[in-house]
Amino acid sequence: MPDRIFGFHTGRTERNMREKLIAMLEHGRAAFESASSAAALQETRVRFLGKKGELTAIMKEMGKLSPEERPILGALANQVKSDLENLFEERSRMVGELEMEQRLAQERVDVSLPGRRITGGSKHPVTLVIEEITDIFAALGFAVAEGPEIEQDFYNFEALNMPKDHPARDMQDTFYVNDDIVLRTHTSPVQIRTMLKHAPPVRIIAPGTVYRRDSDLTHTPMFHQVEGFLVERNISFGDLKGILTAFLSQIFGKGLEVRFRPSFFPFTEPSAEVDIQCVMCKGKGCRVCRNSGWLEILGSGMIDPEVFKAVGYDPEVYSGFAFGMGVERIAMLKYGVNDLRLFFENDIRFLRQF
Ligand SMILES: [Zn+2]
Repeated sequence: MPDRIFGFHTGRTERNMREKLIAMLEHGRAAFESASSAAALQETRVRFLGKKGELTAIMKEMGKLSPEERPILGALANQVKSDLENLFEERSRMVGELEMEQRLAQERVDVSLPGRRITGGSKHPVTLVIEEITDIFAALGFAVAEGPEIEQDFYNFEALNMPKDHPARDMQDTFYVNDDIVLRTHTSPVQIRTMLKHAPPVRIIAPGTVYRRDSDLTHTPMFHQVEGFLVERNISFGDLKGILTAFLSQIFGKGLEVRFRPSFFPFTEPSAEVDIQCVMCKGKGCRVCRNSGWLEILGSGMIDPEVFKAVGYDPEVYSGFAFGMGVERIAMLKYGVNDLRLFFENDIRFLRQF
């Protein structure tokens, strides 16, 4: 500062800066050359060339220089800066190659190691049967719908013509969550949910899991059903028989006899149980069909006008039918499985056969 006060330049600042710049270049060169990782290089670059680095610190003294000295020192500073940047680039390339070599050495593949076998899974027989049923009905114009497994009493019972204290509720041993919520005992609530949302015509198939308090050789507390229903104008019992007969001959093979027996369900009127000729003995009588020659396979019927009223369909204009079947039962008959529990034990030796 005294230089300035007396109005003449000794060039002392200029020499000082020049020496500092040259010293910094040498330090920088050494630092870059000894840096052995990308991170260390980056650190060195910040130390010398960063906003708060050494070069910036030296340049702060530029203001003390005379107008003649400034461009000379400026040029030198630029030269030092570009030299350091070149050193950084060059060293980065070398370190990059080095790191790559190290990684390749570490990750070398031993081609003599035996490969790991990828074991393919297979679909569960219940899934296979649901897919097959869905495909057959899709070809007949049915769409797939799903609903919740934890269901309101209204959808599971009430709207299906089973008000509280209706004796038909006893047919199904229900898991109650509380007075108003149940684990659905059948897939029929999907009917109600669909009809409340869509005006006829509707053709729906609803596969899913259902729950009943039942557990023995032929019952499990959780099993699968496929529900189907069709509502249009002028649908008769003949349409029901036609569609279900076509379905059964596709899933069990042509030439199988089918019979319809009068039955009772609260949500259909008239109702029919559908039997097929025993697939094991072809009707001669065996253990599976208890010597009757017939197997119960489906429940069905014309949808009760009371159900239409619950969902706001006009029973004078529309009619329709509904049906339901147990998926495990069909899978047992189709694949000749004699124990229901096999489907739920997840024994890989059993499941691999499908
Ligand atoms: Zn039989």
